[in-house]
Amino acid sequence: MAREQLIPRGIHDQRVLDAMISVPRHLFVEDALQSQAYGDFPLPIGAGQTISQPYIVALMTQELQLKGDENVLEIGSGCGYQTAILAQLTGRVYSVERIKSLHIKARRTLDRLKFVNVVCKIDDGTLGWPDFGPYDAIMVTAASPDIPGPLLDQLADPGKMIIPVGDRYSQSLVVIEKNDGNITRKTIEQVRFVSLIGLHGWQE
Ligand code: SAH
Repeated sequence: MAREQLIPRGIHDQRVLDAMISVPRHLFVEDALQSQAYGDFPLPIGAGQTISQPYIVALMTQELQLKGDENVLEIGSGCGYQTAILAQLTGRVYSVERIKSLHIKARRTLDRLKFVNVVCKIDDGTLGWPDFGPYDAIMVTAASPDIPGPLLDQLADPGKMIIPVGDRYSQSLVVIEKNDGNITRKTIEQVRFVSLIGLHGWQE
């Protein structure tokens, strides 16, 4: 996976590559899909949701430039795979998922793999998670019509957020940086994510 899908496309952060190699992606998908878990494509995880292809997980993670002691917020736990990659690379991860069945499965897999530095909850992640902020890094793994205001407010200064922004079918992967009170925004890739559904996202 690293040699064929990640390194040739520009994933060069060795810590990210090591995390991608060490986290067992097949344990996050259902048994019937395990043989396809390392393929170069997204996979269904139930409830109409998907786990992103490995390259997109690695790319989004690399953009956050985690050093190991950040406080990270993830919106859209899904199966918990991206959560595990983040947890491997930093101190604490707070992850919010709106669908109960996915939250339960993600928590079970993260516990089984002994990720003790992850706190999960069921809620509308477009509201962020004010209790544990501000966050040095925020990753949103569902597509939003715009940047949810509460997430921008809960981003630390300095801080970095990555989020797919666009319409329901096609989005730009946007990296937001907060620095000395200034906000900068750059687009790195065209992507297709499932919708972020909530008060500051799409309606159901
Ligand atoms: N990172 C996940 C990707 C899951 S797909 C993984 O590795 O599996 C995106 C997830 O975002 C879905 O599980 C969806 O239910 C969730 N989601 C959508 N809107 C949300 C919201 N407002 N708050 C929290 N989670 C949300």
